[in-house]
Amino acid sequence: MVRERKFYDLLEVPVDASEADLKKAYRKKALRLHPDKGGDPELFKEVTHAYEILSDPEKRSIYDSRGEAGLSEQGGMGGMDPQDLFSQLFGGGGFFGGGAGGRPSGARKTKDLVHRVNVTLEDLYKGKTTKLALTRNALCSRCNGKGGKDGAVRQCHTCSGRGIKVTLRQMGPMIQQIQSTCDDCSGTGEVINMKDRCTSCKGKKVLPEKKLLEVHIDKGMKGGQTIQFNGESDQAPGAQSGDVVIVIDEKPHDRFKRQENDLIVELEVDLLTALGGGQISIKHLDDRALLVNLTAGEVIKNNDLKVIRGQGMPSQRHHEPGDLFVKFSVIFPESVDLGSIGLLERALPPRKPLEKFPKNVHLEEVELDEPDARSKAHAMQDEPMDEDHEGEPRVQCANQ
Ligand SMILES: [Zn+2]
Ligand SMILES: [Zn+2]
Repeated sequence: MVRERKFYDLLEVPVDASEADLKKAYRKKALRLHPDKGGDPELFKEVTHAYEILSDPEKRSIYDSRGEAGLSEQGGMGGMDPQDLFSQLFGGGGFFGGGAGGRPSGARKTKDLVHRVNVTLEDLYKGKTTKLALTRNALCSRCNGKGGKDGAVRQCHTCSGRGIKVTLRQMGPMIQQIQSTCDDCSGTGEVINMKDRCTSCKGKKVLPEKKLLEVHIDKGMKGGQTIQFNGESDQAPGAQSGDVVIVIDEKPHDRFKRQENDLIVELEVDLLTALGGGQISIKHLDDRALLVNLTAGEVIKNNDLKVIRGQGMPSQRHHEPGDLFVKFSVIFPESVDLGSIGLLERALPPRKPLEKFPKNVHLEEVELDEPDARSKAHAMQDEPMDEDHEGEPRVQCANQ
């Protein structure tokens, strides 16, 4: 459950916005609010901070469940310079030509392994535990991550262990510094005697390893949420292992739509049931089907929206269910037996009388016909447009 939405509001995105949506929204706002463009520096800072939190799956998950208070408990609220984040995102400098991107990193940590899993709505309804096999680098057990026998690994003399070499080049009055990878150690800063090299990892210190993770998908989880396995990412000598972050991708369902903890289902009902009552069934996301009694005499109209309380998605924390909304479409018969029309006249409200026209209006009888496919398509052009064409002038159909 999302308790606070301030950060979402700052970026003007829904709480289930995807990473791409967030980035798009931030870019739009940041370009407008950037102080170099005459924007409010305070607001720019706030929007940037919101993006910094929401774009980090771990921080976003904490914010979603415990709000800003949860983040400050975690510490690390210092945040980075908004200018830095901006440059990192949109390339050093960007259009306003400031800010040297990149920032010094603290203790060395291997990269987080982010893995997306496709989860069905059924699984999110019932909860599920799945096993996930990942391949990661693990320290070689034969050499304990040293790459060879004790003392076999030496610092590269050429680059003094820095992995880079710097050459100076005179260019007219200026001296240019050129950095390149050290050839002698291929940028590792170390050299290993061939004969002392570990036979298992060939001096690489790490070996690929299969890792099986048990991922527990809790009832009521939503797309975009993350499950974190701390320190399960690649191992590297002298570095802390990063995390494995599992991101939930919610698969669209063919019958149910989800809105937070509510479900929406579209249901067809025949005209007789819509008018005279009867039973309809809805197969749920678990092994149940809901049996709904439509009361005789109460009419269901086309596009009517009804609700079945407590049959939506479970909330994540306490598994309290949301509601199930049912949107009806009434299916009319293709034709009616002439003999039954009298019965319809008895059952339904009388026909609407013809409009009365003044004496000088001449009534002319005409035929109702079926349109052909082409003119039908033409008449349907007022349908809502694709999002992609938003703001573009509508293409007119040429009349021939
Ligand atoms: Zn070197
Ligand atoms: Zn080894």
